[in-house]
Amino acid sequence: MKRNFGITYHEKFRQYDLGPGHPFRGDRFENVKRFFEEKGIFQHPNVHVLRPEPATKEDLLMVHDESYINHIFELAEKSMPYDIETPTSPTILEAALLIVGGSILCARMVCENKMARAISLGGGLHHAGRNYGGGFCLFNDVAIAVEYARRKCGIKRVLIIDYDVHFGNGTSDIYYEDPNVLFISIHQDPRTIYPGTGFIEQVGRKAGEGFNVNVPLPPGTGDETYLHVVREVFVPLAEEFKPDIIFGNGGSDPHFADSLGNLNLSMRGFFELSRLIVGVSERVCDGKLVLMTGSGYNPSVLPGCWYALAAGVIGLEDLDVEEPYPPPAESPWSRNKAMEMLQNLKRVLSKYWKCFR
Ligand SMILES: [Zn+2]
Repeated sequence: MKRNFGITYHEKFRQYDLGPGHPFRGDRFENVKRFFEEKGIFQHPNVHVLRPEPATKEDLLMVHDESYINHIFELAEKSMPYDIETPTSPTILEAALLIVGGSILCARMVCENKMARAISLGGGLHHAGRNYGGGFCLFNDVAIAVEYARRKCGIKRVLIIDYDVHFGNGTSDIYYEDPNVLFISIHQDPRTIYPGTGFIEQVGRKAGEGFNVNVPLPPGTGDETYLHVVREVFVPLAEEFKPDIIFGNGGSDPHFADSLGNLNLSMRGFFELSRLIVGVSERVCDGKLVLMTGSGYNPSVLPGCWYALAAGVIGLEDLDVEEPYPPPAESPWSRNKAMEMLQNLKRVLSKYWKCFR
């Protein structure tokens, strides 16, 4: 069977530009497109560029409260900011709806077996909850795509692996009481970064207790420790939970040269991470995987990192990118702290998961 892979792109994605001086600039999309073209990804015989439609209000209502949606539409009409770091405008809203539409389209293509795997460029707006936004996010496309898969495609169990450098607080809140969505967030220690939550003790509530897994890593964690922790946590959980589909989200902000985070992944680390997620998806859910890559705040490494993630998804054998800066060595302090966290996390999770007993 020919393996087809989808990647969303729309020239209006660039309107998701939060202004001069803001770390989230719209030119990332054109830069990535150019880089993907140079690398031959968009011309790859198995890759289809998917052109999304904007998400509708009905789509948003699968996750968000109507009053919140109306509030965002009203703010956008007047070009008023939602908060100090999350501006809105008619053009930003239009782009946000296209990005959400892209994540829905990826979920649909994969669930209907039209694509083996898909990538939603610009997706992963994980700081938005049911009735709040923030952290550059207005609508949570991750949860909207998950709900689309569950309500329209007959998907029952979903695993979300959030490898953005920041805790996915919005996604976590939305599924905090839901035992059919296993949310695993690997992020920088919340005592040192936005949004300041995402501790290992936050395990979920009521029926969802045990289904929210936070993996906080100390600043300075590099490829080796990062991937070790992912193998120790994500892999056994995925095998025990047995999802019907895996959603992954995160762009380049865990890269060592990113300006907003202090994790030290290299481009090769992103590639290995992507391949690891693909491998697990092939073992546990027939390869069904949607990756959402949106974040990243150093324009000189963003295209290479997104490319590394995409290269893993479309199954390239090797990665042909060069780091613009030499990767730093991992400090023993970071390694030790991460190992300590891992032991504590396994102890906390052993109450809910056989694989940690
Ligand atoms: Zn982030």
